Formats: sequence, C-alpha cells, structure tokens
Amino acid sequence: MSETAGEAKAEVKQASKEVKESENVAEKYSAMTVSKNSEINMGELSSAFSAVPTHKPVKKQIQFVEEKQEFSRFPTKTGRRSLSRSISQSSTDSYSSAASYTDSSDDETSPRDKTQVNSKGSSDFCVKNIKQAEFGRREIEIAEQDMSALISLRKRAQSEKPLAGAKIVGCTHITAQTAVLIETLVALGAQCRWTACNIYSTQNEVAAALAERGVAVFAWKGESEDDFWWCIDCCVNTEGWQPNMILDDGGDLTHWVYKKYPNVFKKIRGIVEESVTGVHRLYQLSKAGKLCVPAMNVNDSVTKQKFDNLYCCRESILDGLKRTTGVMFGGKQVVVCGYGEVGKGCSAALKALGAVVYVTEIDPICALQACMDGFRVVKLNEVIRLVDVVITCTGNKNVVTRDQLDRMKNGCIVCNMGHSNTEIDVASLRTPELTWERVRSQVDHVIWPDGKRVILLAEGRLLNLSCSTVPTFVLSITATTQALALIELYNAPDGRYKQDVYLLPKKMDEYVASLHLATFDAHLTELTDEQAKYLGLNKNGPFKPNYYRY
Ligand code: NAD
Repeated sequence: MSETAGEAKAEVKQASKEVKESENVAEKYSAMTVSKNSEINMGELSSAFSAVPTHKPVKKQIQFVEEKQEFSRFPTKTGRRSLSRSISQSSTDSYSSAASYTDSSDDETSPRDKTQVNSKGSSDFCVKNIKQAEFGRREIEIAEQDMSALISLRKRAQSEKPLAGAKIVGCTHITAQTAVLIETLVALGAQCRWTACNIYSTQNEVAAALAERGVAVFAWKGESEDDFWWCIDCCVNTEGWQPNMILDDGGDLTHWVYKKYPNVFKKIRGIVEESVTGVHRLYQLSKAGKLCVPAMNVNDSVTKQKFDNLYCCRESILDGLKRTTGVMFGGKQVVVCGYGEVGKGCSAALKALGAVVYVTEIDPICALQACMDGFRVVKLNEVIRLVDVVITCTGNKNVVTRDQLDRMKNGCIVCNMGHSNTEIDVASLRTPELTWERVRSQVDHVIWPDGKRVILLAEGRLLNLSCSTVPTFVLSITATTQALALIELYNAPDGRYKQDVYLLPKKMDEYVASLHLATFDAHLTELTDEQAKYLGLNKNGPFKPNYYRY
C-alpha cells in the first residue's frame, strides 16, 4: 500500500469515529422491526436515516504525496491497446468472484465493431455476445440462491418502488452477483446503465443476460484501456437520459463525470462508493471542497469490513493456496505477517488444518491477541529459514525483503493477501542471476543460481483475488449495503445530506446483518423492556456505540 493510501485508511477510520448517532436515531428506528423477521418498511428506513448527523469534515488533515493525484488519471488517447494491465485500481480493493466460463469463444471481433440486438429489438448495450444470455441467466439464478438477503429486500420493497425515477449509472465488476444487485435496483423502480470497473472481471454471459433483460450494459472481459473509457462514456453520455445517482467501485466513473460532464452533477443526488481507492478519492475531493454531492462510503461499514477481511480471507486463503500449489497444510510451518482482520482469518484457517502457524506483528495489542489465540509471535528473520509458507497481510510495504527471500528454504511458497503488491519485494527478484519459470497460471518458480526455488504466487498481488473466487454470500453483504445506501441517498429530503462523505449508520449495518441471519435460521434474542432500560438501549437498536470494535 502506498503511504498515501495508508494515511487515507487512517482518515477513514478517524472519520468513522466521528459519526455519532443521536438519541433521535433510536427513537426513529424504534418503529422498525428488523431483528425479529427482517421485515422493513421502506418509508421508515428512509426516515431512519434522517437523524444521522453528517460527520464533520475530518479534522486530521492528510498530506498527500501528490495532491494532483486526485482523479488524475486521464483516459488514454492512444486507441485500443493490448491487455497489458488492469487500469482500475478497484481491481485490487474490491472483490469480484468473476469466473467466466464462456471465454473460450474464438470470436476476436471487438464488441464495438458488432451490431447486436436483444430479443426486444434494443441495441442500447455493448457486450461480447448477446447469444450467451441464457447461460448468463443460469449464473444469475445460482447467485440469487446465496443472496437471499438481497432478494428478500427486493421482494419486500418491490411494491413501494423506493427507487422509482432513479437513474443509476453504475461501474462495478460485472458478475452474476452484481447482476442480482442491478436487477434488484430495477425491481425497486430504477433505470440502470452499467459498465465494468475492471477490464478483466466481466462475466460475458452475465453481461449478455443483463442486456437481454433491457439493462444498458457496456462491458466485456478483456477490454482495452480505450474500450474501458468508451464503455463508461456510453453509460453517461446518451441522448435523453441523465443519471441522478452514481454507484461506483474504484472512482473511475465518478472521475469521468467530473472531468467530462460536470453539469451532470447538478442532477446527481448522491454517489455510493464501495472501494478503498474510490473512498479515498472522495475524501480528497471533500477535503479540497470539490465534492459537489453527498457520497456514501459503504466500504467502511462494519458488516462489509468483517466479511471482506476476516471471514472471506479465512476461506479464500486456503482456496487460493490449494488451487495454485495443491499443498497439504497439515504439519506445514507457516508464517503470517500481520495479525489484523485478514491475518486473523488466514491464521485461523491454517491452524484448523494442522499447520504450525507463526505470526509477525508490529502492534503489541495485535501481537498479544495472537499469543492469546495460541500463535507464536516471532520476528520474520527468526523463522525465515524454516517456514514452508510465507503470507503477508499487513497493508504495508517491503514486509518481505530480498534478503529474506534469499534465505528461504527450497520450495518455500510466498504469497500476499494485502492490498498492495509491494508487501513482498517482488521487484528485487527481477535480477539477472535469478531465473523465473512460469509453471502454472499465477505460479512462478524463482530459481537461484544454486538451484533453490521459491514458489511465488500471483507475482505478489492479492492471492485470493488473483487465484480464487469470493463467496457469493460475502458479496451479498456488500450488494445489500449498496442497495440500502442508494435508496437512502435517493429518497433523502434536501438538506439531510450535505456535500460530504457519509458512513452507513450503525443501525443500517445491523439491518444488513439481520437480513442475512435468516440464511442460518438464526434466532435473535430480544431485549426485555427492563433489560433495554438497564443497558440504556432502544429495543430495536442500534445495539452498540460507534466506537465498539466487533
Ligand atoms: P489491519 O490494519 O487490521 O491489519 C494489518 C496488520 O498488519 C496490523 O495489525 C498491523 O499492525 C500489521 N503490520 C503492519 N506492518 C507490519 C509489518 N511490517 N510486519 C508485521 N505486521 C505489520 O488490516 P486488515 O483489515 O487485516 O487488512 C490487511 C490488508 O489486506 C490491507 O491491505 C487490506 O486492504 C487487505 N485486504 C485484503 C482482502 C483480501 O480479500 N485479500 C480483504 C480485505 C482487506
């Protein structure tokens, strides 16, 4: 992670601390039954937000390495380029379970050069192949099964149409899970135009299924950089249609509208942003006084954070390691660098499979937690010669240095679960004396002159995003949060939200969680009147103060 991003993260945390819920919030929510049966009245939901004060502009000012970094990436003018890199930073900080099964198509024609029409005669879309729609529909139906919370929100709010009149332009990974979100928004009354936030992650068949259902979707797997911006432009710049809501993942769409169509912001009621990068950019804009509409930071909602960081990584670390190396974990010596949420998930999963897990930490509190959880806390240098697997989860840089890579034993597996691909000093391995051998997709053997091999996964990029899939259930949490944030921003009366960045109120976080409880047939205990009084709580929540750490 760059220093800038690290500081932004600190700012986000600071900002979350500053959101306080007034007594009124509990009052307004008291009418809302969420815990018992996940029923919700959309009117109540909307009014519930009204009592949440704006968080004050963050007091702690951040010095950015380059102030002009704020939306500084301009689209290329160089025409269609080869697929050398992903241009959306969101590819590294938001999660897609993208796994397209229909990419074996030999059709090399660019979708931009084809004329396609859906069964209703509309050609307001651009996808790889509209004929894949049926297959994509099956994918969406499978995703729906694990997104029952979102589906239940869809069913409950469908009659009220809380998004009637909303014109949402979206830029996210286009996967079966996002399709469930988009179709939920449409069911709630919205018109949607959609594009991909990442040039690789689109499931072509899903994009086709959406286009077939009438969603104006512009995306395909393997876009060039030029295609990427062209698709965004097609979503925003269309005759007779102007968006009034933005759902973004990474900030590229917001950037494009700011740079090319600033007038569109006169009609925009709010931006909902999912990714670390996009949220960071919004805070920068806000700080510079340039944010001209309210924005909702869904990235930092408690449920999303827990699921993305702890629970998701607890599952996907094993998935990523197995798929790439097929390694048996029992008895293996593993060092996990960083015992934050991601490190805790990885350590727990590996320990459960019988691995001997060491932890490195810089923070005594996290180090003590690791001790209490039964892990040996060590310096990396103490174990570097003996471990079989090294996993970085710090969000920091140069956590594993070339010197340490030199000292690893033959066959050591090295991978990263943190945001940045500089946690492992991979660049230092690109020297003439070392040979790189690509043995599988995302697996490189780096060979030293004496024959020692280190197995480097995904070239030091996030292992699970590069080599495994994110469970649909995790994405359901994010999608439900996004839907609620859109409903709220769209329905908020003038003045409720200023031109600032907001966090989802805790009550809404609790609501998202409660919607997902039904999946497990989990039964919440209700406070008695006496208990509620004793704890000073409203029986309907919120149940914890904002500073509570789950
Ligand atoms: P966190 O802040 O809770 O934990 C990071 C931990 O690393 C902290 O406890 C910190 O003290 C420690 N640390 C920092 N520098 C260190 C060093 N040099 N050596 C040892 N420990 C060090 O953050 P988190 O939520 O656990 O996220 C960690 C990283 O993973 C972030 O970059 C985040 O963006 C990323 N992330 C990845 C996924 C994924 O799916 N792979 C999901 C969520 C977050």
